[in-house]
Amino acid sequence: MARRLAGIFALLLLATATAQDQIPRLAVSYAVDASAPESGKIRVAMTIRNNVQDEVKVAIPAWAPGAYRIVKYGRSVWNVEASGRDGNKLEVMSIDDQTWRVKAGGIDRLTIRYELSVDKSRMDKDHLFIAGPDTYLYIVDRKDVPCSVGFTLPEGWRVGTGLDADGPVYKARDYDTFIDCPTELGKFELLSFEADGATFDIVIHAKGPLDGEKIVDMCRRIVVTQNRMFGGPPPFKRYVFLYHFKDQTGGRGLEHLNSTDISMPYAAMKFDPLLAASVTSHEYFHLWNVKRIRPAELGPFDYSGIVRSKALWMCEGVTSYYGDRTLAHCGIWKEQQYLDHLAGEIETLQNNPDRKVTSVEKASQNVWDRKDYPRVDYYNKGELLGLLIDLKVRTATGGSKTFDDVVRRLYEQYVVGP
Ligand SMILES: [Zn+2]
Repeated sequence: MARRLAGIFALLLLATATAQDQIPRLAVSYAVDASAPESGKIRVAMTIRNNVQDEVKVAIPAWAPGAYRIVKYGRSVWNVEASGRDGNKLEVMSIDDQTWRVKAGGIDRLTIRYELSVDKSRMDKDHLFIAGPDTYLYIVDRKDVPCSVGFTLPEGWRVGTGLDADGPVYKARDYDTFIDCPTELGKFELLSFEADGATFDIVIHAKGPLDGEKIVDMCRRIVVTQNRMFGGPPPFKRYVFLYHFKDQTGGRGLEHLNSTDISMPYAAMKFDPLLAASVTSHEYFHLWNVKRIRPAELGPFDYSGIVRSKALWMCEGVTSYYGDRTLAHCGIWKEQQYLDHLAGEIETLQNNPDRKVTSVEKASQNVWDRKDYPRVDYYNKGELLGLLIDLKVRTATGGSKTFDDVVRRLYEQYVVGP
């Protein structure tokens, strides 16, 4: 009986597999036309293949992972139109400020075209920076489908991205991964180095010349030191540092699965490229902490609205702890410089009276609101909590273990996916 049942199950499994194989998989490809960057507009065509639905809902995210605020990218989307394979127009209805419904009538292939107005900070005659969530619509409830993109660009422009290149097409296994690979388009400088079995590309869009060798050395030291902490090759074959060094005031960075995009004032970088070390180290450490070790609510992502987490102090503050400690370990900062930095963080926290009424968990949850309530900076206090946890583990184990062991354990035990 058992053998007979096993035979039936095997037949059923075979039938299921065959049926699934016969249904071509839904796929999305985008064509981005950025051939007129001075117009302040780009045109995007999103083609959906192997559709079987009568109605297709598409949406643009309301926020970008890592930047915990509602942005409403839909405000930049104009003239949404849809058509079938032979060019026949399909009805498009706007549902809300980020979602559209296309009357597809079950046709297998449809193309949705839209224009995007692009801010001068992201596009000018020399370049276009595509963050991802700001540009690409997704099929509602089908973010699992593979995505690819091709670009129409001005003469001489290149493509810098963490997406996998397949000739002139750039691909990702699903939408979350796809929009987590920002793309720099333009005449940028490209530097590279190899470390621990992976290639590291450094894409630099700068206002003028910079000391590239120093930037490569900085990135390499950070990469090697942090890879060593996790005891093996990093979880990718290629990683991309996307740098913008122009007229902005202050620095910022955003983490991604196999890349980071960082902006710093050109004048500061011209003065000393190592001024980008702290943000670079922070963003690189994120590839483990938050991109792979993360709270459940931070992936797969819900882009439709606010996603609160109590744990941003761990995601951001502890990342800052390791980011800056890396700089001391790899010699970019002198020991005294690191101690002065920690002293500054302690002083900032102790001088903040709100620390007595707002916890870091509350601060993590409230970051979306950006209201004028008692504020605690979870970067600041989270970094110091990282330090205190590390000291506690070291003293409790007589120096035989550190917080690094805890973080490694989290990575080895709880990380799912690439
Ligand atoms: Zn961060």
